[in-house]
Amino acid sequence: MYHHTQNDNGSYNTRCLDCFMTIASCVETEQELKALESRHICPEKALADLLAQERAIEARAHLN
Ligand SMILES: [Zn+2]
Repeated sequence: MYHHTQNDNGSYNTRCLDCFMTIASCVETEQELKALESRHICPEKALADLLAQERAIEARAHLN
């Protein structure tokens, strides 16, 4: 999820709500915002995925 703010000159800033990293500032168009956001590799999400994966592996280990 991303949080957009708009500057006085009409350009946009975007920040990731998962890792609170500013992904881009002074972006001219919403299309550009979307492109930049899609390129963001979120460390928080990567970590959450990794932990979920580990839990799944552990849960399987307990079954055997
Ligand atoms: Zn992020």
